[in-house]
Amino acid sequence: MTSAPKLPRLPRDPDDDYAARAVDARLELLRTTTGARLAHVAGERVPLAEARGKIEGLIGFAQVPLGVAGPLRVDTSVGAREVYVPFATTEGAMVAAYARGMRLLNAGGVRARVVRERLTQNPILVYRDARAACAAGETARAAFAELRELVAGTTRHGALVALESDVIGRRLLLSLVFTTGDAIGINMAARATELCCAELARRTVPEAWYVHGQDVEKRANARALVEGRGRSVVVDARVPRETLADLARVTPEQLAAISKTYAVGFAALGTQNHAVQVANGLAAIYLACGQDAAYVTESATGQLDLEVDAAGDLYAALTLPSLLVGTVGGGSGQGTARECLELLGCAGAGHANTFAELVGAALLAGDLSLMAAFCSHEFVQAHETLGRNRPEVRA
Ligand code: NAP
Repeated sequence: MTSAPKLPRLPRDPDDDYAARAVDARLELLRTTTGARLAHVAGERVPLAEARGKIEGLIGFAQVPLGVAGPLRVDTSVGAREVYVPFATTEGAMVAAYARGMRLLNAGGVRARVVRERLTQNPILVYRDARAACAAGETARAAFAELRELVAGTTRHGALVALESDVIGRRLLLSLVFTTGDAIGINMAARATELCCAELARRTVPEAWYVHGQDVEKRANARALVEGRGRSVVVDARVPRETLADLARVTPEQLAAISKTYAVGFAALGTQNHAVQVANGLAAIYLACGQDAAYVTESATGQLDLEVDAAGDLYAALTLPSLLVGTVGGGSGQGTARECLELLGCAGAGHANTFAELVGAALLAGDLSLMAAFCSHEFVQAHETLGRNRPEVRA
Protein backbone atom coordinates (compact mmCIF):
# COMPACT_ATOMS: atom_id res chain seq x y z
CA MET A 1 0.00 0.00 0.00
CA THR A 2 2.99 2.29 -0.05
CA SER A 3 3.48 4.95 -2.72
CA ALA A 4 4.50 8.56 -2.16
CA PRO A 5 1.86 11.27 -2.78
CA LYS A 6 1.90 12.90 -6.19
CA LEU A 7 0.27 16.10 -4.96
CA PRO A 8 2.78 18.87 -4.18
CA ARG A 9 3.64 20.01 -0.69
CA LEU A 10 1.87 23.14 0.48
CA PRO A 11 3.82 26.36 -0.12
CA ARG A 12 5.14 28.14 2.96
CA ASP A 13 6.37 31.74 3.11
CA PRO A 14 9.45 31.99 5.35
CA ASP A 15 9.01 35.78 5.69
CA ASP A 16 5.36 35.81 6.76
CA ASP A 17 3.23 32.72 6.38
CA TYR A 18 0.09 34.65 7.42
CA ALA A 19 0.48 37.35 4.74
CA ALA A 20 -2.15 37.51 1.99
CA ARG A 21 0.34 36.33 -0.64
CA ALA A 22 1.13 33.19 1.39
CA VAL A 23 -2.57 32.41 1.85
CA ASP A 24 -3.28 33.11 -1.84
CA ALA A 25 -0.45 30.79 -2.91
CA ARG A 26 -1.94 27.94 -0.91
CA LEU A 27 -5.45 28.65 -2.19
CA GLU A 28 -4.17 28.67 -5.77
CA LEU A 29 -2.41 25.35 -5.28
CA LEU A 30 -5.56 23.81 -3.79
CA ARG A 31 -7.71 25.12 -6.65
CA THR A 32 -5.44 23.85 -9.38
CA THR A 33 -4.80 20.45 -7.82
CA THR A 34 -8.32 19.64 -6.56
CA GLY A 35 -10.66 21.66 -8.78
CA ALA A 36 -12.43 23.08 -5.71
CA ARG A 37 -13.38 26.73 -6.28
CA LEU A 38 -13.05 27.73 -2.63
CA ALA A 39 -14.81 31.06 -3.22
CA HIS A 40 -16.41 31.21 0.24
CA VAL A 41 -13.26 29.97 1.95
CA ALA A 42 -11.50 32.90 0.26
CA GLY A 43 -14.06 35.37 1.60
CA GLU A 44 -17.09 35.45 -0.70
CA ARG A 45 -20.21 35.86 1.40
CA VAL A 46 -22.35 32.75 1.87
CA PRO A 47 -25.94 33.46 0.72
CA LEU A 48 -28.14 33.92 3.79
CA ALA A 49 -30.69 31.49 2.34
CA GLU A 50 -28.19 28.65 2.76
CA ALA A 51 -28.72 28.86 6.51
CA ARG A 52 -32.39 27.91 6.18
CA GLY A 53 -33.19 24.75 8.10
CA LYS A 54 -29.90 24.97 10.00
CA ILE A 55 -30.43 27.79 12.48
CA GLU A 56 -32.99 30.22 13.85
CA GLY A 57 -32.47 33.91 14.65
CA LEU A 58 -29.79 34.19 11.95
CA ILE A 59 -27.40 37.15 12.16
CA GLY A 60 -24.45 35.94 10.05
CA PHE A 61 -21.78 33.25 9.95
CA ALA A 62 -19.15 32.63 12.62
CA GLN A 63 -15.57 32.77 11.39
CA VAL A 64 -12.91 30.34 12.53
CA PRO A 65 -9.41 30.18 11.02
CA LEU A 66 -9.22 27.45 8.42
CA GLY A 67 -6.00 25.65 7.59
CA VAL A 68 -5.02 22.59 5.59
CA ALA A 69 -2.58 19.78 6.20
CA GLY A 70 -1.32 17.33 3.63
CA PRO A 71 -1.10 15.91 1.14
CA LEU A 72 -2.20 12.66 2.76
CA ARG A 73 -2.35 9.51 0.66
CA VAL A 74 -4.88 6.96 1.88
CA ASP A 75 -5.87 3.52 0.66
CA THR A 76 -9.68 3.81 0.97
CA SER A 77 -12.54 1.50 0.03
CA VAL A 78 -12.78 3.35 -3.30
CA GLY A 79 -9.07 3.11 -4.05
CA ALA A 80 -6.11 5.36 -3.33
CA ARG A 81 -7.03 8.97 -2.49
CA GLU A 82 -4.67 11.90 -2.08
CA VAL A 83 -6.06 14.85 -0.20
CA TYR A 84 -5.35 18.04 1.64
CA VAL A 85 -7.36 17.94 4.87
CA PRO A 86 -9.13 21.10 6.12
CA PHE A 87 -9.17 21.99 9.82
CA ALA A 88 -11.04 24.92 11.43
CA THR A 89 -9.45 25.64 14.79
CA THR A 90 -7.82 28.26 17.00
CA GLU A 91 -5.35 25.86 18.62
CA GLY A 92 -1.93 26.87 17.33
CA ALA A 93 0.47 23.97 16.60
CA MET A 94 -2.38 21.55 15.99
CA VAL A 95 -2.52 21.63 12.18
CA ALA A 96 1.28 21.46 12.10
CA ALA A 97 1.11 18.29 14.22
CA TYR A 98 -1.43 16.69 11.88
CA ALA A 99 0.71 17.72 8.89
CA ARG A 100 3.75 16.02 10.38
CA GLY A 101 1.73 12.92 11.17
CA MET A 102 0.56 12.78 7.54
CA ARG A 103 4.16 12.82 6.34
CA LEU A 104 4.87 9.92 8.70
CA LEU A 105 1.90 7.97 7.34
CA ASN A 106 2.75 8.72 3.70
CA ALA A 107 6.15 7.10 4.13
CA GLY A 108 4.83 3.58 4.63
CA GLY A 109 1.20 3.88 3.56
CA VAL A 110 -2.05 4.06 5.48
CA ARG A 111 -5.26 2.11 4.90
CA ALA A 112 -8.74 3.05 6.19
CA ARG A 113 -12.02 1.18 6.00
CA VAL A 114 -15.56 1.65 7.27
CA VAL A 115 -16.21 -1.77 8.79
CA ARG A 116 -19.75 -1.23 10.08
CA GLU A 117 -22.67 1.13 9.48
CA ARG A 118 -25.36 1.28 12.12
CA LEU A 119 -27.06 4.39 13.37
CA THR A 120 -29.00 3.35 16.44
CA GLN A 121 -31.99 4.87 18.17
CA ASN A 122 -33.01 3.57 21.60
CA PRO A 123 -36.64 4.37 22.40
CA ILE A 124 -38.21 3.10 25.63
CA LEU A 125 -41.77 1.84 26.06
CA VAL A 126 -43.07 1.52 29.64
CA TYR A 127 -45.47 -1.34 30.55
CA ARG A 128 -47.45 -2.36 33.60
CA ASP A 129 -44.83 -4.91 34.67
CA ALA A 130 -41.79 -6.84 33.41
CA ARG A 131 -43.94 -9.64 32.00
CA ALA A 132 -45.84 -7.22 29.77
CA ALA A 133 -42.54 -5.60 28.71
CA CYS A 134 -41.13 -9.03 27.73
CA ALA A 135 -44.25 -9.82 25.70
CA ALA A 136 -44.01 -6.46 23.95
CA GLY A 137 -40.39 -7.24 23.09
CA GLU A 138 -41.54 -10.43 21.37
CA THR A 139 -44.21 -8.50 19.47
CA ALA A 140 -41.62 -5.94 18.36
CA ARG A 141 -39.20 -8.58 17.06
CA ALA A 142 -42.00 -10.43 15.26
CA ALA A 143 -43.07 -7.16 13.60
CA PHE A 144 -39.60 -6.39 12.22
CA ALA A 145 -40.47 -6.91 8.54
CA GLU A 146 -43.56 -4.71 8.82
CA LEU A 147 -41.68 -1.98 10.68
CA ARG A 148 -39.01 -2.13 8.01
CA GLU A 149 -41.71 -1.51 5.39
CA LEU A 150 -43.09 1.35 7.45
CA VAL A 151 -39.66 3.00 7.56
CA ALA A 152 -39.11 2.45 3.83
CA GLY A 153 -42.22 4.57 3.23
CA THR A 154 -40.65 7.60 4.98
CA THR A 155 -37.14 7.84 3.52
CA ARG A 156 -35.46 6.93 0.25
CA HIS A 157 -32.01 6.54 1.79
CA GLY A 158 -32.59 5.30 5.32
CA ALA A 159 -33.39 1.66 6.12
CA LEU A 160 -34.23 -0.23 9.28
CA VAL A 161 -31.74 -3.10 9.25
CA ALA A 162 -32.09 -4.62 12.73
CA LEU A 163 -34.25 -4.50 15.81
CA GLU A 164 -33.05 -5.68 19.20
CA SER A 165 -34.76 -5.42 22.56
CA ASP A 166 -33.92 -5.53 26.26
CA VAL A 167 -36.14 -5.41 29.29
CA ILE A 168 -35.19 -3.25 32.26
CA GLY A 169 -37.81 -3.79 34.95
CA ARG A 170 -41.09 -2.83 33.30
CA ARG A 171 -39.36 -0.84 30.58
CA LEU A 172 -38.79 -2.20 27.09
CA LEU A 173 -35.61 -0.76 25.64
CA LEU A 174 -35.55 -1.06 21.86
CA SER A 175 -32.49 -0.77 19.68
CA LEU A 176 -33.55 0.25 16.20
CA VAL A 177 -30.60 0.06 13.82
CA PHE A 178 -30.57 2.08 10.60
CA THR A 179 -28.35 2.59 7.62
CA THR A 180 -28.63 6.18 6.45
CA GLY A 181 -27.01 6.50 3.02
CA ASP A 182 -24.63 9.45 2.94
CA ALA A 183 -26.33 11.41 5.72
CA ILE A 184 -25.61 11.19 9.44
CA GLY A 185 -29.27 10.31 9.39
CA ILE A 186 -30.51 11.48 12.75
CA ASN A 187 -33.53 13.31 11.44
CA MET A 188 -34.59 10.40 9.23
CA ALA A 189 -33.97 7.87 12.02
CA ALA A 190 -35.81 9.95 14.64
CA ARG A 191 -38.87 10.20 12.39
CA ALA A 192 -38.75 6.49 11.57
CA THR A 193 -38.39 5.64 15.27
CA GLU A 194 -41.41 7.70 16.17
CA LEU A 195 -43.49 5.85 13.60
CA CYS A 196 -42.24 2.43 14.74
CA CYS A 197 -42.98 3.24 18.38
CA ALA A 198 -46.46 4.51 17.56
CA GLU A 199 -47.15 1.28 15.67
CA LEU A 200 -45.85 -0.88 18.55
CA ALA A 201 -47.83 1.18 21.05
CA ARG A 202 -50.95 0.52 19.00
CA ARG A 203 -50.25 -3.22 19.16
CA THR A 204 -49.09 -3.54 22.78
CA VAL A 205 -50.68 -0.64 24.75
CA PRO A 206 -47.82 0.67 26.93
CA GLU A 207 -48.40 3.19 29.74
CA ALA A 208 -45.95 5.58 28.05
CA TRP A 209 -43.31 5.67 25.33
CA TYR A 210 -40.38 7.92 24.60
CA VAL A 211 -38.52 8.15 21.30
CA HIS A 212 -35.39 9.48 23.00
CA GLY A 213 -35.91 7.16 25.94
CA GLN A 214 -32.30 6.20 26.50
CA ASP A 215 -30.73 9.16 24.81
CA VAL A 216 -27.41 7.96 23.45
CA GLU A 217 -27.24 11.10 21.35
CA LYS A 218 -24.25 13.35 21.87
CA ARG A 219 -22.71 11.63 24.87
CA ALA A 220 -19.86 9.14 25.07
CA ASN A 221 -21.36 5.77 25.89
CA ALA A 222 -20.13 2.24 26.32
CA ARG A 223 -22.80 0.78 24.05
CA ALA A 224 -21.54 2.80 21.08
CA LEU A 225 -17.96 1.81 21.85
CA VAL A 226 -18.81 -1.89 21.92
CA GLU A 227 -21.51 -2.15 19.24
CA GLY A 228 -20.62 0.85 17.09
CA ARG A 229 -22.85 3.78 16.16
CA GLY A 230 -22.85 5.72 12.92
CA ARG A 231 -19.83 4.50 10.95
CA SER A 232 -17.13 2.34 12.55
CA VAL A 233 -13.73 3.00 11.01
CA VAL A 234 -10.48 1.06 11.26
CA VAL A 235 -7.23 2.68 10.11
CA ASP A 236 -3.78 1.14 10.09
CA ALA A 237 -0.32 1.96 8.86
CA ARG A 238 3.31 0.96 8.90
CA VAL A 239 5.85 3.71 9.47
CA PRO A 240 9.49 2.97 8.60
CA ARG A 241 11.96 3.27 11.47
CA GLU A 242 14.14 5.72 9.49
CA THR A 243 11.21 8.03 8.77
CA LEU A 244 10.34 8.17 12.46
CA ALA A 245 13.94 9.05 13.26
CA ASP A 246 14.17 11.70 10.53
CA LEU A 247 10.82 13.44 11.01
CA ALA A 248 10.02 12.84 14.66
CA ARG A 249 13.25 11.86 16.43
CA VAL A 250 11.71 8.74 17.96
CA THR A 251 11.98 4.96 17.58
CA PRO A 252 9.18 2.42 17.19
CA GLU A 253 10.19 1.01 20.60
CA GLN A 254 9.70 4.40 22.28
CA LEU A 255 6.27 4.75 20.71
CA ALA A 256 5.24 1.25 21.75
CA ALA A 257 6.46 1.96 25.28
CA ILE A 258 4.59 5.25 25.62
CA SER A 259 1.49 3.59 24.22
CA LYS A 260 1.64 0.96 26.97
CA THR A 261 2.15 3.62 29.63
CA TYR A 262 -0.80 5.59 28.32
CA ALA A 263 -2.95 2.44 28.50
CA VAL A 264 -2.07 2.18 32.20
CA GLY A 265 -2.83 5.88 32.63
CA PHE A 266 -6.17 5.56 30.85
CA ALA A 267 -7.08 2.59 33.07
CA ALA A 268 -6.23 4.63 36.19
CA LEU A 269 -8.33 7.48 34.80
CA GLY A 270 -11.28 5.17 34.24
CA THR A 271 -11.70 6.36 30.65
CA GLN A 272 -12.79 4.08 27.86
CA ASN A 273 -11.24 6.42 25.31
CA HIS A 274 -7.83 5.04 24.37
CA ALA A 275 -7.16 7.47 21.54
CA VAL A 276 -5.03 10.51 22.31
CA GLN A 277 -6.08 13.74 20.57
CA VAL A 278 -8.89 12.52 18.35
CA ALA A 279 -11.25 15.18 19.75
CA ASN A 280 -8.90 17.91 18.51
CA GLY A 281 -8.73 16.92 14.87
CA LEU A 282 -12.28 15.73 14.76
CA ALA A 283 -13.75 18.97 16.11
CA ALA A 284 -11.68 20.97 13.61
CA ILE A 285 -12.65 18.79 10.63
CA TYR A 286 -16.29 18.81 11.77
CA LEU A 287 -16.30 22.63 11.87
CA ALA A 288 -14.58 22.86 8.48
CA CYS A 289 -16.87 20.33 6.79
CA GLY A 290 -20.26 21.38 8.19
CA GLN A 291 -20.77 18.42 10.49
CA ASP A 292 -22.81 18.66 13.69
CA ALA A 293 -19.94 19.49 16.04
CA ALA A 294 -21.77 18.19 19.11
CA TYR A 295 -21.19 14.66 17.83
CA VAL A 296 -17.56 15.00 18.89
CA THR A 297 -18.83 13.83 22.27
CA GLU A 298 -19.56 10.32 21.06
CA SER A 299 -17.36 10.18 17.95
CA ALA A 300 -14.04 11.15 19.51
CA THR A 301 -13.49 7.87 21.29
CA GLY A 302 -11.43 4.98 20.10
CA GLN A 303 -8.43 2.78 20.41
CA LEU A 304 -4.88 3.71 19.41
CA ASP A 305 -2.51 0.80 18.97
CA LEU A 306 1.26 1.31 18.52
CA GLU A 307 3.55 -1.71 18.18
CA VAL A 308 6.93 -2.67 16.78
CA ASP A 309 6.44 -5.01 13.81
CA ALA A 310 8.58 -7.99 12.79
CA ALA A 311 10.73 -5.80 10.52
CA GLY A 312 11.43 -3.35 13.33
CA ASP A 313 9.14 -0.66 11.92
CA LEU A 314 6.11 0.85 13.62
CA TYR A 315 2.65 -0.66 13.24
CA ALA A 316 0.03 1.99 14.10
CA ALA A 317 -3.73 1.52 14.17
CA LEU A 318 -6.68 3.67 15.18
CA THR A 319 -10.16 2.24 15.62
CA LEU A 320 -13.09 4.65 15.82
CA PRO A 321 -16.25 2.67 16.58
CA SER A 322 -18.79 5.47 16.50
CA LEU A 323 -18.01 8.15 13.96
CA LEU A 324 -21.05 10.24 13.02
CA VAL A 325 -20.43 12.00 9.72
CA GLY A 326 -22.38 12.80 6.57
CA THR A 327 -21.72 14.33 3.16
CA VAL A 328 -25.42 14.98 2.50
CA GLY A 329 -27.87 16.76 4.78
CA GLY A 330 -27.34 18.80 7.93
CA GLY A 331 -24.78 21.57 7.40
CA SER A 332 -22.71 19.65 4.84
CA GLY A 333 -24.11 21.42 1.75
CA GLN A 334 -23.59 25.04 2.66
CA GLY A 335 -20.86 27.60 1.81
CA THR A 336 -17.42 26.82 3.20
CA ALA A 337 -18.52 23.38 4.41
CA ARG A 338 -19.34 22.19 0.92
CA GLU A 339 -16.08 23.67 -0.36
CA CYS A 340 -14.07 21.81 2.27
CA LEU A 341 -15.84 18.57 1.35
CA GLU A 342 -15.02 19.34 -2.31
CA LEU A 343 -11.40 19.75 -1.29
CA LEU A 344 -11.56 16.18 -0.01
CA GLY A 345 -13.42 15.00 -3.13
CA CYS A 346 -16.29 14.07 -0.81
CA ALA A 347 -19.09 16.57 -1.44
CA GLY A 348 -22.58 15.13 -1.79
CA ALA A 349 -24.00 11.69 -2.46
CA GLY A 350 -21.84 8.58 -2.64
CA HIS A 351 -19.01 9.85 -0.47
CA ALA A 352 -19.89 9.44 3.22
CA ASN A 353 -17.84 6.29 3.79
CA THR A 354 -14.84 7.69 1.93
CA PHE A 355 -15.12 10.86 4.00
CA ALA A 356 -15.21 8.76 7.20
CA GLU A 357 -12.13 6.85 6.05
CA LEU A 358 -10.18 10.01 5.18
CA VAL A 359 -11.14 11.53 8.53
CA GLY A 360 -9.98 8.36 10.30
CA ALA A 361 -6.60 8.45 8.53
CA ALA A 362 -6.13 12.13 9.36
CA LEU A 363 -6.93 11.40 13.01
CA LEU A 364 -4.33 8.63 13.15
CA ALA A 365 -1.80 11.13 11.79
CA GLY A 366 -2.59 13.48 14.67
CA ASP A 367 -2.37 10.83 17.37
CA LEU A 368 0.90 9.51 16.00
CA SER A 369 2.49 12.93 15.81
CA LEU A 370 1.38 13.83 19.32
CA MET A 371 2.69 10.60 20.82
CA ALA A 372 6.01 11.21 19.06
CA ALA A 373 6.12 14.76 20.48
CA PHE A 374 5.48 13.40 23.98
CA CYS A 375 8.32 10.87 23.52
CA SER A 376 10.82 13.42 22.26
CA HIS A 377 9.67 16.04 24.81
CA GLU A 378 8.92 18.51 22.01
CA PHE A 379 5.22 18.98 22.79
CA VAL A 380 5.48 21.98 25.09
CA GLN A 381 8.08 23.67 22.92
CA ALA A 382 5.90 23.27 19.81
CA HIS A 383 3.03 25.03 21.58
CA GLU A 384 5.33 27.73 22.91
CA THR A 385 6.60 28.38 19.39
CA LEU A 386 3.38 28.01 17.38
CA GLY A 387 0.47 28.25 19.75
CA ARG A 388 1.02 31.09 22.24
CA ASN A 389 -1.44 33.96 21.99
CA ARG A 390 -0.33 36.66 24.36
CA PRO A 391 -2.83 39.52 24.07
CA GLU A 392 -0.08 42.17 24.19
CA VAL A 393 1.62 40.71 21.08
CA ARG A 394 -0.66 41.26 18.08
CA ALA A 395 0.96 41.17 14.67
P1 NAP B 1 -31.21 15.80 6.96
O1 NAP B 1 -30.63 17.02 6.35
O2 NAP B 1 -32.30 15.95 7.94
O3 NAP B 1 -31.75 14.80 5.84
C1 NAP B 1 -30.99 14.40 4.73
C2 NAP B 1 -31.85 14.51 3.51
O4 NAP B 1 -31.09 14.23 2.35
C3 NAP B 1 -33.00 13.51 3.51
O5 NAP B 1 -34.17 14.19 3.18
C4 NAP B 1 -32.65 12.50 2.43
O6 NAP B 1 -33.78 12.06 1.73
C5 NAP B 1 -31.81 13.36 1.50
N1 NAP B 1 -30.80 12.63 0.71
C6 NAP B 1 -30.55 12.83 -0.59
N2 NAP B 1 -29.55 12.04 -1.00
C7 NAP B 1 -29.16 11.31 0.03
C8 NAP B 1 -28.14 10.33 0.22
N3 NAP B 1 -27.35 9.92 -0.77
N4 NAP B 1 -27.98 9.79 1.46
C9 NAP B 1 -28.78 10.18 2.48
N5 NAP B 1 -29.76 11.11 2.36
C10 NAP B 1 -29.95 11.68 1.16
O7 NAP B 1 -29.97 14.99 7.54
P2 NAP B 1 -29.88 13.88 8.68
O8 NAP B 1 -28.50 13.35 8.52
O9 NAP B 1 -31.04 12.97 8.69
O10 NAP B 1 -29.96 14.71 10.01
C11 NAP B 1 -28.84 15.50 10.37
C12 NAP B 1 -29.36 16.77 10.95
O11 NAP B 1 -30.14 16.46 12.10
C13 NAP B 1 -28.24 17.64 11.42
O12 NAP B 1 -28.55 18.97 11.05
C14 NAP B 1 -28.30 17.50 12.91
O13 NAP B 1 -27.80 18.62 13.55
C15 NAP B 1 -29.75 17.29 13.17
N6 NAP B 1 -30.05 16.59 14.42
C16 NAP B 1 -31.29 16.04 14.57
C17 NAP B 1 -31.59 15.35 15.73
C18 NAP B 1 -32.91 14.68 15.91
O14 NAP B 1 -33.06 13.99 16.90
N7 NAP B 1 -33.84 14.82 14.99
C19 NAP B 1 -30.65 15.22 16.74
C20 NAP B 1 -29.41 15.77 16.56
C21 NAP B 1 -29.11 16.46 15.40
P3 NAP B 1 -34.66 10.85 2.28
O15 NAP B 1 -35.14 11.21 3.64
O16 NAP B 1 -35.78 10.69 1.30
O17 NAP B 1 -33.80 9.63 2.32
